[in-house]
Amino acid sequence: MSLPGAPFLARVDGALQLEGHDLAELGARFGTPLFVYSRGAMRAALDEYLLALKGRPHLVCYAMKANSSLAVLQTFAQAGAGFDIVSGGELARVLAAGGRADRVVFSGVGKSPAEMRQALQAGVRCFNVESEPELDTLNAQALALGLIAPISLRVNPDVDAGTHPYIATGLKGNKFGIAHDRALAAYRRAATLPGLKVLGIDCHIGSQITQLEPYIDALDRLLDLVEGVEAAGIPIHHVDVGGGLGITYTDETPPRASALVAAVLARMDARGHGHRELLFEPGRSLVGNAGVLLTEVMVLKPGRDDVPETDGAAKSFCIVDAAMNDMVRPAMYEAWMGIEPCRLRAETTRRWDIVGPVCESGDWLGRDRDMALAPGDTLAVLSAGAYGMVMSSNYNTRPRAAEVLLDGPEAHLIREREDVAALFAGERLI
Ligand SMILES: *Cc1c(COP(=O)(O)O)cnc(C)c1O
Repeated sequence: MSLPGAPFLARVDGALQLEGHDLAELGARFGTPLFVYSRGAMRAALDEYLLALKGRPHLVCYAMKANSSLAVLQTFAQAGAGFDIVSGGELARVLAAGGRADRVVFSGVGKSPAEMRQALQAGVRCFNVESEPELDTLNAQALALGLIAPISLRVNPDVDAGTHPYIATGLKGNKFGIAHDRALAAYRRAATLPGLKVLGIDCHIGSQITQLEPYIDALDRLLDLVEGVEAAGIPIHHVDVGGGLGITYTDETPPRASALVAAVLARMDARGHGHRELLFEPGRSLVGNAGVLLTEVMVLKPGRDDVPETDGAAKSFCIVDAAMNDMVRPAMYEAWMGIEPCRLRAETTRRWDIVGPVCESGDWLGRDRDMALAPGDTLAVLSAGAYGMVMSSNYNTRPRAAEVLLDGPEAHLIREREDVAALFAGERLI
């Protein structure tokens, strides 16, 4: 069985390793819960997009909401990526990590005037505008600062990305983007506003997409519009097809990034748009399989063996020190994530629900997993590099996990474990 995250994630003589580092040892050294990421895996994932785009005008903007730790952003900035941001806070992170504002695209359905001014003053490359009222607000903010806002319109192409309803974003019934049949009128309006300059067109149809067809359908819808908008005398410089490429958590077989890029380029060429700059906004596919969440087994509650498996009393629980506050994907989307013991035991296996200590029955990381376990063992939740740390919370007054970034022989602590005192430092007794 090959592990998601291979070849950077591997089992060597029974020991789970990431980028050549023994994960049980890292857990012991830095404590758990602990996110561990492979810098090599992140670079390799980005390189696949960049290599496939070689020789074409392009910009790959890492959708940093997937994992916005500074050292992760630094890794991508140094490797030549731009960034897709969705808040002023994310812009501040890009700049703190050494990223360039002129490689930033600013997405988001509800940008505040203050965030618009912050991004205008920083000089972001493009605002991905998601509604007609946003055009007016942005225009007013730009004029007040004596600046011009470069814009793209995020068009809702109304295609089904075939993914979980919470992460589908390109359907008519979603809150995102400007409806396809309103887009031409919106471009005409944008062209009359003196604080705006039309630069491109964009879409983003969803996340964890495992097929190419929705991308090509969406691209066709965008190119139809580009042709209409240019016929109306408004030039379009770039086409941004968004992010959303899926990764393997269990048995999904998403297309490789190189195949996605090749298919998009072929379609652009076939329709005579090969000269345009192409933007991608991948998040999950750059970081998801580059990370694991390490957690220690605290308590085992084996179920009864003398009752049928369907009896609740037969259920076995493995309580670990990571919880839904550290990794919310299973609780929020019923997402299946691989869980592997960092060291294999010879004992016979039992079927466990791997759960956290939080006071919610929704606090589980994995259900019905066959493993031989003992208290003190270290487990790795796989494919935890995306939408893990960024979605973590302090529920149950649990400090957030530490993070380690592996870089060849080095293991860098890139985020200290949160301190309990810091959790209520801003609070006041009355
Ligand atoms: C979340 C998001 C992305 C990235 O999505 P992934 O599924 O992580 O690749 C790209 N663009 C926009 C506008 C987003 O909101």
